[in-house]
Amino acid sequence: MSMTPDLAAIEAMDAADPLRSMRERFVLPEGVIYLDGNSLGAASPAVFSELQQAATREWAQDLIRAWNTAGWFNMPVELGDQLGRLIGAADGQTVVCDTTSINIYKLLHAALGMRPDRSVIVAEGDSFPTDLYMAEGVASTRPGTRLRLEGVDAAAIEELIDDSVAVILVNHVNYKSGRLRDMAALTRKAHDAGALIIWDLCHTAGALPVELDRANADFAVGCTYKYLNGGPGSPAFIYAAARHHGDVHQPLSGWWGHARPFAFEQGFAVGSGIRRFLCGTQPVLSMRALKGALDIWNDVDMTAVRKKSIALTDLFIQLVEARCGAYGLELESPHDGSQRGSQVSFLHPHGYQVMRALIERSVIGDFRAPSTIRFGFTPLYVGYGDVWQAVDVLEDILRTGAWQDARFAVKTAVT
Ligand SMILES: *Cc1c(COP(=O)(O)O)cnc(C)c1O
Repeated sequence: MSMTPDLAAIEAMDAADPLRSMRERFVLPEGVIYLDGNSLGAASPAVFSELQQAATREWAQDLIRAWNTAGWFNMPVELGDQLGRLIGAADGQTVVCDTTSINIYKLLHAALGMRPDRSVIVAEGDSFPTDLYMAEGVASTRPGTRLRLEGVDAAAIEELIDDSVAVILVNHVNYKSGRLRDMAALTRKAHDAGALIIWDLCHTAGALPVELDRANADFAVGCTYKYLNGGPGSPAFIYAAARHHGDVHQPLSGWWGHARPFAFEQGFAVGSGIRRFLCGTQPVLSMRALKGALDIWNDVDMTAVRKKSIALTDLFIQLVEARCGAYGLELESPHDGSQRGSQVSFLHPHGYQVMRALIERSVIGDFRAPSTIRFGFTPLYVGYGDVWQAVDVLEDILRTGAWQDARFAVKTAVT
């Protein structure tokens, strides 16, 4: 890497940043350097005005009529199409609903049902745990189903794929290390073995360009409260390639997935297209918040987002290595920006205390057990000057040993 930039160089980078004005679309508290948009994205006036309108006009004034007059009924598919544009999905293949965990459950069952003579689910041992927990739950309801894990049953996921594999559940970017997978290559490998693949996009939707259709992916899930800024607990999404819509069935066959929900028929008749992945009534206020958050992306070029994301994360690594190298931090993320999502993780034996000390000084990242300190860089509202200041504070905390104060060792419920 080139010479470590100084503050003047950093200011010039901010001045030349084509995404700089996007920062004004978000509200962040004064003085806070927010490096946790990979866990909970920032709030925006666009979201507030959608919430306000949905609550005070549509709900309060239109009441039950709003399902029709305000278009509430179609929101899961309309938002799905809007979100689909950010993940390389043509219309009609994405639906907003439920949580990522629930959607994984639906898709694993659906995929296993499409490969009845196969019994293996392949996943990653270092996956975000809920993905594995849901796979365990699915396997427990289908006798004979087995889980094969990368890092446990073989070092690389590719080695686990053979003709007994029904479905591969894999993260596009690993939540802890930030490692990015080659979607097209792994999808091809899965298909060559006759298997289906489900991509978990929690750490890539809104973080970098995703090309589901182009990669020929079968299915995907993801959440909307991280890089998409939909708000705490905003609904997740499902992508299913159109070619599968004719022969895919998910087990949570609620009335919203019915062909005629308002006919109130006794038996289940599966709905057409992507609607078959719906189950019950969706959280309208949360969906409206998400609508506001997604509208912001209408003016954003995802290539510019990726470019800035790599520049921010490269800069952070460079400054940390130059200034904090002596204090026991070890880079956990790939050094090569093209192999990395929009986050940087370091290992530190007292990572929890270090992160608590950072947060007290208004540099907000997060901690992942046992020893990862994680920093997310959201190009829409994080600038190069923020990176500089964050490293300044980190260096101070490490050099002075400020993190060793007993109050930083007290565990909080959510890290
Ligand atoms: C954040 C995240 C989830 C969250 O799942 P929910 O059911 O929405 O709580 C799941 N998987 C991955 C990989 C995540 O990063």
